[in-house]
Amino acid sequence: MNNTLTIALSKGRIFEETLPLLAAAGIEPVDDPETSRKLILDTNQQDVKLVIIRAADVPTYVGYGAADIGVAGKDVLMEHGGEGLYEPLDLGIARCRLMVAGPEHGGGKQSRLRIATKYVQSTRRFYADRQEQVEIIKLYGSMELAPLVGLADRIVDVVDTGNTLKANGLVPLEHIADISSRLVVNKAAMKMKHARVTEFIAHLKTAVSA
Ligand code: AMP
Repeated sequence: MNNTLTIALSKGRIFEETLPLLAAAGIEPVDDPETSRKLILDTNQQDVKLVIIRAADVPTYVGYGAADIGVAGKDVLMEHGGEGLYEPLDLGIARCRLMVAGPEHGGGKQSRLRIATKYVQSTRRFYADRQEQVEIIKLYGSMELAPLVGLADRIVDVVDTGNTLKANGLVPLEHIADISSRLVVNKAAMKMKHARVTEFIAHLKTAVSA
């Protein structure tokens, strides 16, 4: 059996904030993903590799077992659906909120609101729960622009400080979910590499609560 432990991470905030947690499990990457073009990073442990991928792809790699373990935002997991994954630990990092936002005054005068978002599934569920009919427009980024140019009445996006909304004349209107990054584990890896995976989770759990 393949004895390597493969951990999927995305660059930027999640990578930076996961580093100290990995260090607590004795794992240190040899390369820096911000300067290296490598997509598979070696670590100080010969049988632990990091794969550096887009945040939205982490559940897919882990779900299919191409990575044993990953770190993914709850926003991403809510969109993915979590098939093939265990979610054993809230890492408490990269915290933000999934919110409905829009112009402070005006907007929403049509009978059926138009909502621009990359979070199509979460948006659909939020409005379905409220039995509100909305039209969802899928975007891949810069959602804040949509209400400014008349593409949509509202947006659904993750908000941290709220500065990006404010800079574009938007305000948070409704809270959908609190978001933080979660450890995800491939279900088969949890069985086949049980001792290593549970030891890894235990180290991270201790680091998170410290
Ligand atoms: P803000 O601090 O609200 O101005 O956030 C700036 C932008 O960064 C927002 O438009 C979000 O798209 C993004 N963002 C903030 N926090 C997170 C996070 N924890 N995960 C992913 N994206 C984030």
